[in-house]
Amino acid sequence: MVLTAGQPQEVQDLALLYWEFTEAGKWARTVESIGDPQWVVATVTSASHATLLNSLCTQCEEPIRVPNRSWAARVAGSRLDRPNSTYTCPDCSAVREQEQQQERKRRAEAARAEQERQREQAEERARKISKAFDDEEVKDGTDRALPPPSSPGFALYIALANHAAYRPNKPLPSMDDLRPLGWTGDADSDVTALRDLYHGGLIALSRKSPEDCLEISDEDDSVSFFVSPARWRLTGEAATRASTVREITQYLMTGGGQAAHEARRILADRIEHMEIIDVMAYLDELLEDRYGYPAVPETRRQELAENIALGFISGYTPGQMICFAWRAADTAAGWKERNALMGPPEASSAAVTILRGKIEKAVEVRHAIPEYDSPRWHQQPVALLTLRKLNADVKRVFDRSVIDACPDCDHQGWRDADAETLTRCVHLPASTSGEPTVTSDVDDTPVPPDF
Ligand SMILES: [Zn+2]
Ligand SMILES: [Zn+2]
Repeated sequence: MVLTAGQPQEVQDLALLYWEFTEAGKWARTVESIGDPQWVVATVTSASHATLLNSLCTQCEEPIRVPNRSWAARVAGSRLDRPNSTYTCPDCSAVREQEQQQERKRRAEAARAEQERQREQAEERARKISKAFDDEEVKDGTDRALPPPSSPGFALYIALANHAAYRPNKPLPSMDDLRPLGWTGDADSDVTALRDLYHGGLIALSRKSPEDCLEISDEDDSVSFFVSPARWRLTGEAATRASTVREITQYLMTGGGQAAHEARRILADRIEHMEIIDVMAYLDELLEDRYGYPAVPETRRQELAENIALGFISGYTPGQMICFAWRAADTAAGWKERNALMGPPEASSAAVTILRGKIEKAVEVRHAIPEYDSPRWHQQPVALLTLRKLNADVKRVFDRSVIDACPDCDHQGWRDADAETLTRCVHLPASTSGEPTVTSDVDDTPVPPDF
């Protein structure tokens, strides 16, 4: 038992009475027999402590000091002779407590630092994204370069320019915005077109693109973007853009050589594909939205595309093909009504066969087929109207009958630009252009009410 120095005599006496124990390892007297227990314990604890010689600190193996009897009992048991395997001395406890505190502090600091790092990283990312959009915003098209004529972006630029012309201060829609058919009904081609136009400086990312369309590289901080969610703006003044449109149109209509010929073929193929996609989409929408049937099944889509292609090859116009599709769906629905065994999927599938039958019949008996405009609810590929007209204008330049009727050019469609050079004539003003040929017999099928 150790007394703190400088205690009054009565406190020393009290401590002796409190700490004294018998040979058997028991306390010599109860606390109650000394005085008021609370007062006794408080006085003794503040003025003395005991050292348990049989209970060594698990850390430093020194005998453990305890401030009062209850601590002595916890460490050494009721007989004060239990070997200790749990407790440390006050010094070691203090050290351990300090170590734990430091460890907690270190962890808290590490967590704060990590939070700070993440915050800085997010800020840095936001700054880079904002900078990337700033960079896009200053692009003015001065260093623009048209993609090669073989790129799908070459002709698509005209569709983009037309689209933008009536939407001042609005971005060009993203491919995601234009789901499912996009600009041309061919997502791969659209992605290539937009990439080529972007790298040629003809279009730039619009600030109205969703932020997550941009990605910052962890390695070299470079910024890249995803094409599908990106929205666009055309670079350059209106006059510059108009001259680009003229340049492209001019090239396709009058360009000479293999590359121009190839570009015209690519445009024609593109339109052919778009027209087929458009009629397919119309038939699907009709079956799904008007009749509540499923779309034409995957296993018959190739055949459907071929049937539609047959219609175009046979000389029917897009409007007439819409009419054929409407009639095919209508007939399929009629069959289903009369045939209890026929379910909606069978009706959708049957529409493919019926469509072919109607086209073949019409070719055979030379029936006149009316032209239907696309109904309002039908979503066609956005670039269809512009590219269809462009393709028609280009075709007209090379059309034999138009050349023959044109007073300005020779029988191959060339005319004198000056004394030495020949240029491709575009046969304007158009005297015989675009008038539909008069059809023979009258078709009395009513136009559906919702067109
Ligand atoms: Zn110790
Ligand atoms: Zn001419």
